[in-house]
Amino acid sequence: MTLSKSEVNKILIESLDIKKDILKMIYKAQSGHPGGSLSCSTLLYLLYLKIMKINPNKPNWKNRDIFILSKGHAAPALYAVLSKIGFIKRDDLFTLRQFGSKLQGHPIKNRDLGIEISTGSLGMGLSIGVGCALAAKLDKKKEKFIYVLLGDGELNEGSIWEAAMSASHYKLDNLIAVIDRNGIQIDGFTEEIMGLEPLAEKWKAFGWNVIEIDGSNINEIINEIKEIKNVIGKPTVLISYLIKGADVSFMQHSRKYHGRAPNKEEYEIALKEIDNVVNKLREKIN
Ligand SMILES: [Mg+2]
Repeated sequence: MTLSKSEVNKILIESLDIKKDILKMIYKAQSGHPGGSLSCSTLLYLLYLKIMKINPNKPNWKNRDIFILSKGHAAPALYAVLSKIGFIKRDDLFTLRQFGSKLQGHPIKNRDLGIEISTGSLGMGLSIGVGCALAAKLDKKKEKFIYVLLGDGELNEGSIWEAAMSASHYKLDNLIAVIDRNGIQIDGFTEEIMGLEPLAEKWKAFGWNVIEIDGSNINEIINEIKEIKNVIGKPTVLISYLIKGADVSFMQHSRKYHGRAPNKEEYEIALKEIDNVVNKLREKIN
C-alpha cells in the first residue's frame, strides 16, 4: 500500500493539528515535555491511523493490537493522537496535569481512553511488551501485534536489554519496538551521555530483525511495517530517525524543551510556524 501525495499531505496536516494540540496542552499546564512529544507524534498518529488494529468503539476488543508508550513523558502526544482517532474528547486534552484529570503528565492505565498501561518509569515498556507478546502467543492470537515506543535516551536503561534478550529467546515475532531516534535526551546528545552506536548492530546481536527508517516518511513507515508481518521467529525493532521538537524552529534539535513548557510568546510563535507549514501543504492539495 502506497499512499498518494494528497493522502500523505492530508495525514501530515492532521498530524500538525495534533502538534498544535500538544503545544496547547503543555502551554496551558505550564508543565510537560514538548521536545519528545513533537518528535514522535506523526509516527504515532500513523500507527493508530493506518497500522494498528484498534477500534475506539471497542476498547476491550480482545484481538486488538496493543500499544505501549514506554517513553511515558511523551504522554501529550499519546493523548492528542487518542483524541484525534476518537478515544479521548478533545476538550479533555486541555486538562493535562490538572488535579483530578485523567490525563496526567505520564499515562495512567485507562482502557476506555485507549491507554493500555501506566508508564513513565523509563526502561519498563519493553518488558511489559514481552509479557503481552508471550500472552498473545499462549492465546494463539496470530494476528495480534504489540507495539512499544521507546525513547533513544531510554536505551540507557539495562532493563531494555534484558527485555531485548528475552524477546529473541522466545522468538516473539509479534513484538515491534519502535525507537524514537532523535539523538537527544534530557541532559544532551545521546552519543555524549551514553553512546548508543552502533545501535542497529547491537539489536542485531541481540537477535532482532532491525529496520532503519526515516520516521517522518509516511509511505516508508507503512511499507516497512507491512514487511515486518512476514518475519517469522524474531522480534523487530524499527530505528526511526526523527527530530526532537520537530516543526517548531526554536525547539528543533534542542534539549532545552525536553521538559519545559513554552511561555506565551513562544507558544504563539510555535503555532504560527506550524500554521505556515499547514498552509503550504494545503496549497499542494488544492
Ligand atoms: Mg531522544
